[in-house]
Amino acid sequence: MESYKYIIIGGGAGSIAAVNEFNKHNVKKEDVLLISEEAVLYNRIYLVDYIFGEVTQSQIVYPKELFLKINVALQTRIVTVQPQKRIVIDSSGKKYKYHKLLIATGAKPVMFVKPLMNNIFVLRTLDDAEKIKSRIYSVKHVTIVGCGAIGLELLDKLNSKCQDKEVVVIEKGSTVLSSSLEPEFGKSIFYNIKNFLSKNCKIEFNSTISNIKEINNKLFVTLTNRKKFFTEMIILVSGIKPVFLSHNGSISTLDTAETTFNNEIDKYCKTMFERIYACGDAVRFKKFYYPNYLNAVNTGTIAAKNMLEEKTELKEYTHTNVLEIFQTVYVLKKYEDNYTKQQLTPKKVLSKYSFYKKYQNLLYYNLPQIQKLFLQK
Ligand SMILES: Cc1cc2nc3c(=O)[nH]c(=O)nc-3n(C[C@H](O)[C@H](O)[C@H](O)COP(=O)(O)OP(=O)(O)OC[C@H]3O[C@@H](n4cnc5c(N)ncnc54)[C@H](O)[C@@H]3O)c2cc1C
Repeated sequence: MESYKYIIIGGGAGSIAAVNEFNKHNVKKEDVLLISEEAVLYNRIYLVDYIFGEVTQSQIVYPKELFLKINVALQTRIVTVQPQKRIVIDSSGKKYKYHKLLIATGAKPVMFVKPLMNNIFVLRTLDDAEKIKSRIYSVKHVTIVGCGAIGLELLDKLNSKCQDKEVVVIEKGSTVLSSSLEPEFGKSIFYNIKNFLSKNCKIEFNSTISNIKEINNKLFVTLTNRKKFFTEMIILVSGIKPVFLSHNGSISTLDTAETTFNNEIDKYCKTMFERIYACGDAVRFKKFYYPNYLNAVNTGTIAAKNMLEEKTELKEYTHTNVLEIFQTVYVLKKYEDNYTKQQLTPKKVLSKYSFYKKYQNLLYYNLPQIQKLFLQK
């Protein structure tokens, strides 16, 4: 059986932050193994830009140099963790022994249509983005379910780049970003957005899909507000669920029904399981669940430090997002129950891409730092 001092499951933002930390500590190559079920290691926050041709695959893939000092197993899915024996088992039955484990398995989209019908898409991985990319240019009607950050990014791009298409966004809340922001902020963002929306793009608030039928290769959608229409593709971006260990040690998507919070981490980013740390979208902290890039980077870094016995506490766990939509960059931040919002004009800001590109190497970010940067420009 292969044996490693440190095994990381996952290849997203949290894992990359941990790898960055391992690199800084000059850990021996034979001591670290990163296992990812995906074929490529890339930053998923640019997937919408990728679909619309604004960035290329080579721009979103993490640089090879990051992985020179560790072992990487791609297209390998871990299905079981046995904390007592300190082993993880992949889908082919291969076992790997660890001394300390980092679970950085992220989250999976909530799919309310199971199994996914033809022409219904989710957007979480590069593979999902490829599928959307190969369909979206050939259709005249697109439906987006969910008007959160990703739904808004999609709407913005379709509105500005594909003016021949009709777009409907379905949102169960009364305004945009309703699951992450207080309504007054969502409303003020929507007020700005309205000025940019073409007559082909609509948002249906306070509604969800109640039924979908496939008729002649199109989808016939009925909403809870009784409206009905045909669409050619539906993109589900209405929410995610953390991927973590279930009680029997298998790795699965945590159902909302599972309220045991076994994916809770402490201030050292350690889980309730012996020698197992966790980070990013897979975890909760103090019962809060704020899945975002910066929390993934912060928790991944802190977890790695503690795995390396450099005792460090998680100082900040926030809902923070840099949203570049409709020619405006919004910096949104929620700390526990307090919100702050900064809205900055385009001339004064860096784009989301240039911002994160700059900080990708640094892998660190905090709000005052961004504000300073934005205001300097
Ligand atoms: C389109 C899009 C745009 C986004 N934009 C922003 C943004 O602008 N700002 C922001 O803050 N956040 C954004 N996010 C969210 C951000 O990408 C996540 O918060 C961040 O990627 C979380 O990192 P992570 O490492 O926890 O998980 P992930 O990045 O999801 O990585 C987890 C990895 O683990 C792998 N994995 C899961 N289970 C297993 C297993 N059993 N075995 C092996 N591998 C496994 C997954 O395939 C995946 O590669 C966006 C997300 C998407 C999808």
